[in-house]
Parts: sequence; C-alpha cells; structure tokens
Amino acid sequence: MGFDLRARLDERRARHRYRHPRVQDGPCGRVARVDGRDYLNFCSNDYLGLAADAEVVAAFRAAADQWGVGSGASHLVCGHQRPHQDLEEALAAHTGRSRALLFSTGYMANLGVITALVGRGDAIFEDRLNHASLLDAGLLSGARFRRFAHNDAGALAGQLARSDAGRKLVAVDGVFSMDGDQAPLAPLLDACEAADAWLMVDDAHGLGVLDGQGRGTAFAQGVNERLPVYMGTLGKGLGTSGAFVAGSEELIETLIQFSRSYIYTTAMPAAVAAATRVSLAKAAAETWRRDRLAALIRRFRHGAAELGYALMASDTPIQPIRVGEDADALALSRALAERGLLVTAIRPPTVPEGQARLRVTLSAAHEEGDVDRLLDALETAKCRN
Ligand SMILES: *Cc1c(COP(=O)(O)O)cnc(C)c1O
Repeated sequence: MGFDLRARLDERRARHRYRHPRVQDGPCGRVARVDGRDYLNFCSNDYLGLAADAEVVAAFRAAADQWGVGSGASHLVCGHQRPHQDLEEALAAHTGRSRALLFSTGYMANLGVITALVGRGDAIFEDRLNHASLLDAGLLSGARFRRFAHNDAGALAGQLARSDAGRKLVAVDGVFSMDGDQAPLAPLLDACEAADAWLMVDDAHGLGVLDGQGRGTAFAQGVNERLPVYMGTLGKGLGTSGAFVAGSEELIETLIQFSRSYIYTTAMPAAVAAATRVSLAKAAAETWRRDRLAALIRRFRHGAAELGYALMASDTPIQPIRVGEDADALALSRALAERGLLVTAIRPPTVPEGQARLRVTLSAAHEEGDVDRLLDALETAKCRN
C-alpha cells in the first residue's frame, strides 16, 4: 500500500477543510495587504500592536548590528548570549517569579515543560479545549492522559481524586485561543492543591493583555503566588517570537537539565530577545494599549450583539462569532473579505465538529472606526443570508 496523498487531500477539500497560507505583502498591523488589495486585519494575535512598532524594530535592528543574526548554537553549547540572559531576567521580574527560561516557540516550550515534568507512571490532566501544543505534549510525555470538560474544576477534582498516579500535572490555557474565555484559576488551583497536583498555565493570549501591567491571567485573577508553572509566548501580545517558562529556581534548573526542546535546538536570534525586552517594557508601561483594546472590545460586543450575532463569553481581544457549519463560516469570511475585512474562518479539527466560527481578534492598532466598518459589513452579510 502506498501513500495515497491525493485521496486524503481530495477528501479534505470535499469537506471544506482545505487550508492554505495566504501571502501577506506587508508587515503585521492594522492593515494587511493580500493579492494587491488592502484589508483591515481582524485575525492577527498582535493584540497590542507591537509587531511592527518603530521602537521594537529599532531595537531589533540595533541588536542585529551588534550580535549578528544567528546565535550559532543551542543555549547549553555557546548560543546563550547576553540579550537572552537579560530577557530571561526581565521576564522573571515581569511575571513575579525567581527565574524564566527562553524557548524558541510556544509549541516547543509546552513540549519541553510537560515532558520534563511527567512521564510513565504519572498523569497529565488537560482541559478539552487546550491548545494543540499542550495536547501533543501530554501525549508525547507517556503519562496517563485525561481530558476534563471545559473550565470544569469540579470534573477535574473528581479525576484527580480517582488518580493513583505518581506526579499529577494539570495544564490549561489561561485564555482559550479559539474561544477567548479565561480559565477559572482559583477553583482549578483549589482542586490541584487538594490532590497534591501542579497547575501549569499556558498564557499565550493573556500575557501583555490582561492585568493592569499586562502581567497576564494569573495576576488578573490574583493567584500568581499559588501557580507553580507559568508559560507565556512572545509572538502574540508582545509582537515578536519565541516563548518562556517562569517559576521557581528548581523548576527552571529541572527544565535546563531535562527539557529536550530546550536542549536540542538553536537559541533564538539575540536580536529577537533584545527586541522583546523593548516590547515587554512597552507592554508593561503603555497602559493606553490595554485601555484602547477594552474600548474596542466593548464596542464590538455591543454592536455584534445588537445585530443578533452569537458571541462567546469572552472579555479578551479574541471575540469569536459562532456560526456552526464549516461552509457557512467560510461564506461569512468571504463576504467580509469582499468588503475589505480579513477575518479567518476557524473550522474543525481546530474547533469541535459543528462549531465552526469566525475568529475576530481586536488589536490596539485598530481605531474605533475600524470596528464600525466590521460591524457594518456584518450587518450587510446578515441581510444577504
Ligand atoms: C500560539 C499558541 C501556542 C504556540 O506558541 P508559538 O510561539 O506560536 O509556537 C501555544 N499555546 C497557545 C495557547 C497558543 O495560542
């Protein structure tokens, strides 16, 4: 039997699930240029508008002049340069922890931390709606893998109580990437503490965005001191690239010794780390970015609800519109594109069957008039249906 690739591709196309990358002919920002046309961009994760910020770009350029482009090796060989060290210290301070450790991507950070902490004989418990990288990490770890109902701390407590595993690790998204709602960290921590389990939060969509200083979900919910493992990414709110894990001295030393996705890969370019230090400082200090986001979120939710669209229980910049069928989500996305608005349709397997949606994301780079244009287009699309 051969690899019948064409049949698999044809089947995916027939189910309206075929995906392809669109070439962006410009930087990530308020406007996206695709196929020679400008669109208002409502699908990036650049929530604070820092991806192409002039000061962040200048820091990147200056660091490239000083440090070159490639780090040349993994952190433990000779790739750990001063900007990496400085950024780790800044991230530890920002997240209120003793230490932080850089990874080249969020996907790798999740693989690295989960496989270093649990293995055969242990158990990993994950929210059903966790990001794919957390789910993959759990499977790869070899620990017993359990999923619990979305944001259901009671269900988790039951599973933990029934488990006789050695070490028990619970992993959740801080802000769920396709829904925009936050994990209820206090009840989850109650369940973990009662069962001698550890909680890990993947705050890819919370860091920079939540809490008055952008310190993320754990600070916003007032539980930072209780949380053993915090993971954040740099490619979303902070607008650069890469990720980190923050926690105790012992946690970080354990990751340095045992995280294969930390050990066996080239360190990110020092210029990315240097640029991130500037974007982190801006994210913390420039509260107007979060204030503007909050105003845009209110405006969008109010307008979309008045039009009768089904929103989700989200107070974050991720504001999905529930559609249901894949083909309907694609049709709505296309109708918006005709009117110059870029909003991607998210379909299974990224979301559960029958829950296709338009994932609208707002950014501090947007203006109020941009949200009004989106609402106008949603009104027109609705009338046409
Ligand atoms: C984007 C994302 C990741 C992956 O981070 P990258 O740096 O893009 O690899 C991990 N977890 C969540 C919840 C994410 O949304």
